[in-house]
Amino acid sequence: MHTQAIEDYLREIYALQERDERATTSTLAARLDVTAASVTNMFKKLAALNLVLHEPYKGVTLTPAGLKAALEVVRHHRLIELYLAEALGVPWDQVHDEAEKWEHVLSEDMEDRIDAALGYPTTSPHGAPIPTRDGTVADRPYRSLNELEPGQTVEIIEVSDRDPALLRYLGELGLYPRARLEIVSNNPYRGTVLRVNGVECTLGCDVARHIFVESVSDIPRE
Ligand SMILES: [Zn+2]
Repeated sequence: MHTQAIEDYLREIYALQERDERATTSTLAARLDVTAASVTNMFKKLAALNLVLHEPYKGVTLTPAGLKAALEVVRHHRLIELYLAEALGVPWDQVHDEAEKWEHVLSEDMEDRIDAALGYPTTSPHGAPIPTRDGTVADRPYRSLNELEPGQTVEIIEVSDRDPALLRYLGELGLYPRARLEIVSNNPYRGTVLRVNGVECTLGCDVARHIFVESVSDIPRE
């Protein structure tokens, strides 16, 4: 339907909007590893196709048509990530790059078969919500680890899927979605000290801000 390049842009714009971040020329250039000039050209093209609204200096936001197309690509992407991880045993740090290729060629029939084979899953291996076939997606409160107070017990709901080295590191620490951890201290310069599986570890600010959690307020404290 749309070209691969258009789908890549829609996916990335959606990923930014999902976190309430702005989809600007410089952000997209960095995320897609292209020049600012080519982002500007693509923004014009997307606006002409009525997929985004383009406001000078503010970047772009998805129109209803753009959102619908983006959710379809995101659904493919996250279903494929999970299929690669669960059915083929691909490590969680490798599934994102692979899914970026497969997502563009997945037919509706294969999408349904993968969905059924996986038992109609709701999240990717990184904990990101998988949009439903009709384009709805669970709205979840996003709080990153570095925003929390000491003493809080939280559960990881999602980690960023973009950096394989970071994912390997988090895997070594057991910091997967649904892992529970306690915040020991949080410092904007030194990072976050946390306790996971009885072990204390320190995460730098750059790592902590890529981990999204929700509070577990009803856990009895010792
Ligand atoms: Zn991904």
